[in-house]
Amino acid sequence: MPAFITLVGARENNLKDVTLRIPKGRLTVFTGVSGSGKSSVVFDTIAVESQRQLNETFTWFVRNRLPKYERPHADALEDLSPAIVVDQRPIGGHSRSTVGTMTDVYSVIRVLFSRHGTPSAGPATAYSFNDPAGMCPRCDGLGRTVGPDWDRILDPERSLADGAVRFPPFAAGTWQGQTYTNSDELDPDRPVGRFTAAEREFLMHGRPGSKVAVNGSGGTWITDYEGLADRFERLYLKRDLSAMSQKTRDLVREFLTDGTCPDCRGARLGAAALATRINGRTIADCARMQVGDLIGVLKEIDDPVAGPIAAAAVAALERIDAIGLGYLSLDRETSTLSGGEGQRLKTVRHLVSSLTGMTYIFDEPSVGLHPRDVGRLGDLLLRLRDKGNTVLVVEHDPDVIALADHVVDMGPGAGAAGGQVVFEGTPDELAGTDTPTGRCLGRRTAVKERVRRPTGGLWVKGADRHNLREVTVEFPTGVLTAVTGVAGSGKSTLVREFTAAHPDAVVVDQSSIGISARSTPATYVGIMDTVRRIFARETGARPGFFSFNSTGACATREGRGIIYTDLAFMDPVTTTCHDCEGRRFKDEVLRLTVGGNSVADVLGMTAEQALEFFEDSGVRRRLRALRDVGLTYLTLGQPLSTLSGGERQRIKLATRLHRTGAVYVLDEPTTGLHMSDVDGLLALLDRLVDAGNTVLVVEHNLDVVAHADHVVDLGPDGGRDGGRVIFEGTPRELLAARDSFTAEHLRRATA
Ligand code: ADP
Ligand code: ADP
Ligand code: ZN
Repeated sequence: MPAFITLVGARENNLKDVTLRIPKGRLTVFTGVSGSGKSSVVFDTIAVESQRQLNETFTWFVRNRLPKYERPHADALEDLSPAIVVDQRPIGGHSRSTVGTMTDVYSVIRVLFSRHGTPSAGPATAYSFNDPAGMCPRCDGLGRTVGPDWDRILDPERSLADGAVRFPPFAAGTWQGQTYTNSDELDPDRPVGRFTAAEREFLMHGRPGSKVAVNGSGGTWITDYEGLADRFERLYLKRDLSAMSQKTRDLVREFLTDGTCPDCRGARLGAAALATRINGRTIADCARMQVGDLIGVLKEIDDPVAGPIAAAAVAALERIDAIGLGYLSLDRETSTLSGGEGQRLKTVRHLVSSLTGMTYIFDEPSVGLHPRDVGRLGDLLLRLRDKGNTVLVVEHDPDVIALADHVVDMGPGAGAAGGQVVFEGTPDELAGTDTPTGRCLGRRTAVKERVRRPTGGLWVKGADRHNLREVTVEFPTGVLTAVTGVAGSGKSTLVREFTAAHPDAVVVDQSSIGISARSTPATYVGIMDTVRRIFARETGARPGFFSFNSTGACATREGRGIIYTDLAFMDPVTTTCHDCEGRRFKDEVLRLTVGGNSVADVLGMTAEQALEFFEDSGVRRRLRALRDVGLTYLTLGQPLSTLSGGERQRIKLATRLHRTGAVYVLDEPTTGLHMSDVDGLLALLDRLVDAGNTVLVVEHNLDVVAHADHVVDLGPDGGRDGGRVIFEGTPRELLAARDSFTAEHLRRATA
């Protein structure tokens, strides 16, 4: 096997003829400020070309059905191996995908129950909620059903005669409502909340043969009594809702709720599977436990036949625990996991596979990890390497950088000021180098001594969602607060409770921005209208002329500037449109210039260059906001779809800066930020606070924690062992705190 992956003259995005040799079978970390070109090397060049070459090995018939990759811009790319990208994209998926199914641990446990549980329900599919043989027939294995919302339908404070039934078709006075008010068995004047259990049962389900008198248009009729629940089910749940009128459908929906399946109580499985036990526990009990606890339970199984199967499950569970996810349960739906949790789970799956000679590519795997858990993550990366794989990691965390066999530092700056390899070598050598990364390594953290004084406080009271234990905590206003704690300790849950209690808080997260394919920084921060007006004023043309959504756009490819040709069974090619040369506008628009620049030239400027060019104060204020969030390297016309999660979060922040008296909530704003950019972020947060706002950040970065005015530390650990506030106070006070992993790591970083 060749010893290196070789890149010659790579030119994707901002790369300036990058030539590199990356050692195979080693852990290589790519560093550099954001926008320097790390992803352009690792994802846009190496990963894409590996996939493309792999696809070429298939027949055209197969290839035609695979996603198409274009050859990256480079003179040569040699000795690649098949690449697996383990990214932060949410695992998402449907509600049938759980931690247990995606890691395959659940299938091992199914085998265990089918062979060794008593009584056995049959083969292993009888324990699968994704198989008709095992699923609960009522909810089809979803664990949840849509059912009547009794809290809405019945008002326990009122009597039947006084409108206890709030669902209009069954309300008092209606023909169906009379069933209940006229029944001899129920007191129409007593609040239904005070009915006995037997009366309540009668109200809901009646009794075979019971009759009631109702008054219709033709007089009094004796009819069969039908319970409220049975009637609702017959008329609205067992029928196809889509066959009803829109009005009825909307009405019924108001009185439905998504709840735990009454048959399996959320366990998703049929009765036979749920009757099977091992040491007194059902498979659903096992799936509900935290992974860390389940390990102990399975270790008790020492039967000579079942033991080895249990041991296989334990080995897989220990891998989950080892990367700090022992607080998850196997029944947790993967769609509810955070990006970092998902990435770590995907890694576990690759660890058990027996593939070697692969290239594994990770995008900032330390995201969402407390410093305590970064060490475990490192072990995981090294184990992948030791199985004979090449591991490439884009990362800013110094603890991960320190583990590398080889570091490639990109830079020196971002965008056009980057795109070069500024250093290659070992982490130790990098620490002594004069590059933005080299200068930051080994830097010591200093805690803030003079903290701001709060102007007031916002409370969360008695929060008990997920693992929170009756948490009551005050978040001081007018200051910068860091919410800390190991993964799974309850930070996101607490912050969500906070935003639910104070809905006017401005949440700036990393989720995608609802944007069209044509959105750019210029449209997003809202300067395009002014830019078009300036061009119209200076040139005498209409403003609409300068929009690539309108008459001024190059007609070929609707102003997108590129032509994408799908050659069916060959590589697709993207060619620059001949008519506009990628500038997206018609010639006559391009001839109209302001200060020597056409509108296309303006869209090609970085925010920094545009700041030098524009005099309009509104435009400048918005461009300065981009600079404040560290995004001056973006060009005004770059599609927003190419931004990373961290960049998306910061561009959102840029558009929400001009407020005062607001409460900002940010989730790990250092994501994607180089150590040298963190200072800029802190300066921005300081400005926000000094302008009269309150800022709350969930953060692991110790520089941010040390710089906060107030710290709320959750823990002591994750899951069941977390959910309490274990420390509140200043960073200086945190240094002295006992039994806090955050305190321990802060002491180390400041020592
Ligand atoms: P890093 O990974 O170091 O943050 P990237 O490789 O993502 O940097 O980006 C390098 C430069 O290329 C940046 O200026 C970025 O804005 C630009 N860029 C990245 N992707 C695209 C793209 N698809 N189209 C145009 N420019 C891009
Ligand atoms: P942190 O933000 O500190 O990593 P979280 O608030 O995400 O912690 O999680 C706290 C606890 O709540 C963990 O045990 C986690 O597994 C659990 N949890 C979080 N989200 C959900 C969810 N959607 N469903 C069930 N449990 C959850
Ligand atoms: Zn069910």
